Amino acid sequence: MDYLPIFAKLENRPCLVVGGGEIALRKVNLLLKAGADVTVCAPQFHDQLLEKAEAKQLKTVQHHFTADLLIGKWLVIAATDQKLVNKQVADAANELQLLVNVVDAPQLSSFIMPSIVDRSPIIVAISSGGNAPVLARLIRERLETLLPMHLGRLAAISGEFRHRVKKVIKNVSLRRRYWEKLFANGRLGALLEKGQTDNAIKLMESSLTEDIVSGEVALVGAGPGDPSLLTLKALQLMQQADVVLYDRLVSAEILDLVRRDADLISVGKHAGNHEVTQSRTNEMLVEYARQGKKVVRLKGGDPFIFGRGGEELEELVEAGIAFQVVPGITAASGCSAYAGIPLTHRDFSQSVTFVTGHCKQGGKELNWQALSVSNQTLVVYMGLIQSSEIQTQLLRFGRSKDTPVALINKGTCPDQHVLLGKLSELVQLSAGMQGPTLMIIGEVVNLANKLAWFNPETNQKTSRDPFLVNLN
Ligand code: SAH
Repeated sequence: MDYLPIFAKLENRPCLVVGGGEIALRKVNLLLKAGADVTVCAPQFHDQLLEKAEAKQLKTVQHHFTADLLIGKWLVIAATDQKLVNKQVADAANELQLLVNVVDAPQLSSFIMPSIVDRSPIIVAISSGGNAPVLARLIRERLETLLPMHLGRLAAISGEFRHRVKKVIKNVSLRRRYWEKLFANGRLGALLEKGQTDNAIKLMESSLTEDIVSGEVALVGAGPGDPSLLTLKALQLMQQADVVLYDRLVSAEILDLVRRDADLISVGKHAGNHEVTQSRTNEMLVEYARQGKKVVRLKGGDPFIFGRGGEELEELVEAGIAFQVVPGITAASGCSAYAGIPLTHRDFSQSVTFVTGHCKQGGKELNWQALSVSNQTLVVYMGLIQSSEIQTQLLRFGRSKDTPVALINKGTCPDQHVLLGKLSELVQLSAGMQGPTLMIIGEVVNLANKLAWFNPETNQKTSRDPFLVNLN
């Protein structure tokens, strides 16, 4: 982060603008909007600056800049068309460790002024740090259309109502729930849009006495790794959560999208870290929900595919806790898409089967005979340790040794790695692989060479090289 975004309270605080032209006027107007006590210094002034001085909205000093003008100021803006003067202002301000902005000269500035979308008291500030002003402008325009005009009014009356809510709802989580529910209620916005502030306040009051739901658990699929494969619903729940219990498979980029104040609890197995047992995880889900919290159980891929989602839900049902399940993109879908391997294809594969190489203790043996039939795709989750068994059994039951196989490691992540080979090489391919790896076995794997993922950012098929290594 090149700049720290902060919102400065300048009400009645002395600020200096050096320059008397059009650009200075714009900066002065912004400072006046923030209630600053503005002094403008220039040899000559724009008419509107003179009018404002006349109306006692600002003070003018009609001479060239001198450093003594900086004494007692909080911040200073240099907005003259004289590079030398601007530099002189910047130097003098830096000497006094005063925040200074030189218009159009970020290298001389200790702060820059962002583009803003003003729905006061809601203010959105956008900056590209001087790198892409046009992009920043486009983002601002997009936000202007997205954020309704009544947003400011909504924030303002919420501010007035906060004390009342605090008095009635003592519990912090429940209070947050109240606000979330209220802001999600389209009626409130509609009333404010029509200017019916009194009715909006009545609605806020009546919602106070409504039953506020107790804790609940959302079992959320986080997808295979790429954060942009999250569903909108997953993102919404992650941003409303009080507690997030996440698996080892969930990437750091995805965890970054969780609400800042939420407690993040790892329940996965890490190297050197003790695994939290499944039964302890189940207990925690129930405990947190009983405390009235919004709990998100974040799982890699889809919660219902080799994710023990069912087991956790059974526990919640038994404890009488409200829950919902948000599907995610499972590794088979994500990895196959990013590696250019369609799981089915009219010519090569009429069905696809997902199996796990890692059976629950006492679990049933896989039906190798059925899995060895050609013209079908076999996707193996957690198959690395069992690669020798998988290779042996499939060959034993008649699958051709030349059947193409793909091992996709860290699929959909920036360091995705794809190994291609033949069934007879499966053990060899698996050796030394670390991290989440998916096996795809079947004729469709041959299509990877043709259909590797097309990256619109670079206009290239990127998953082939540098990530793809073909052993054939
Ligand atoms: N519920 C998850 C699967 C959990 S089992 C889902 O629907 O995807 C864990 C296994 O999934 C891993 O051992 C690996 O085989 C596979 N897997 C998950 N994410 C993966 C990824 N990004 N790349 C490759 N394999 C992955």
